Amino acid sequence: MSIDGAYDTENIFAKILREEMPCVKVYEDENTLAFMDVFPQSRGHMLVIHKHEQARNLLDISSCGLKQIMKSVQKLARAANIALSPDGIIITQFNGGPAGQTVYHFHVHIIPKYHGGLKPHAQMGDNGDGMADRDELNMLATQIKSALITD
Ligand code: 5GP
Repeated sequence: MSIDGAYDTENIFAKILREEMPCVKVYEDENTLAFMDVFPQSRGHMLVIHKHEQARNLLDISSCGLKQIMKSVQKLARAANIALSPDGIIITQFNGGPAGQTVYHFHVHIIPKYHGGLKPHAQMGDNGDGMADRDELNMLATQIKSALITD
């Protein structure tokens, strides 16, 4: 899909927001939701989305919405750092299919980086076999939640 175009309300993150699809939630506030990536590139890979803005990518989202998301991104990156002690943390996002975007509801990736390589991006496998173990995601979410600092 191109970088331009209309927002598709049937995208997977819109379904998660409508609770038509499950997610392993880590954090939620009035405007943003953070949950575990089910095809994680590393241990503790999370995604942060806006709950109300129908933005496909960085070009679409309002500056206010972006600020709300980035505030949550910082909060969760700090919590992941405390909970998981990675060697670094990658914050990234993709705009348009040719750039690597696969889900067209604006989101920011928080990818803890440990020594060694990352798994490939959005690697779902032919039968969804790149999917993380649910119990492991729940355990990681619990660890990260316990390290969330209120501000
Ligand atoms: P993008 O490729 O758009 O930057 O990132 C989409 C991300 O969503 C990928 O990292 C992919 O692993 C993740 N993802 C795809 N489908 C699902 C899903 O159903 N649930 C969750 N939690 N993550 C998903």
